[in-house]
Amino acid sequence: MAATQCTFVNTGGAACNAATVCVPVNRFATLIAVTAVAAVALVLFYLDPMTTGYYPRCLFHQTTGLYCPGCGTTRALHCLLHGRFREAVHDNALAILALPVLGVIILWRFLRWQPPVAGSRFRTIGIVVFLAIVATFGVLRNLPCEPFTWLAPSAETTSNIK
Ligand SMILES: [Zn+2]
Repeated sequence: MAATQCTFVNTGGAACNAATVCVPVNRFATLIAVTAVAAVALVLFYLDPMTTGYYPRCLFHQTTGLYCPGCGTTRALHCLLHGRFREAVHDNALAILALPVLGVIILWRFLRWQPPVAGSRFRTIGIVVFLAIVATFGVLRNLPCEPFTWLAPSAETTSNIK
């Protein structure tokens, strides 16, 4: 048997053989991804987007005065890392609600689970639904009436959108 760069994760808990499901896992790519996420989390934890000037400002908000679907994500993640869940959701509810979904998708891909429907069709439907949700969120958070104003970033922070 030829040497391989991948190790295998057994999704069934038994030794790998023809009867079990074993999937290749690229440990180097996983290590890079985990390191990158940890580095971003450290930066977001220690550098408050409200008080530091290290983060880029939202060009869409600067040019149009409207909130894009991503406005407030940096502050939301900073608040979440400090355990301020309510503030995090208020700064960008979509980003915070998307985190567990993103986690499931990453785990799904990591373990190479098969989707319940055909792969490419499932992926296309997922992308269309994702884009529709993002677009709808982007429109709703700019409506000037309750309860949609709650989807906009905090009033005291809108001059510092990141
Ligand atoms: Zn924005």
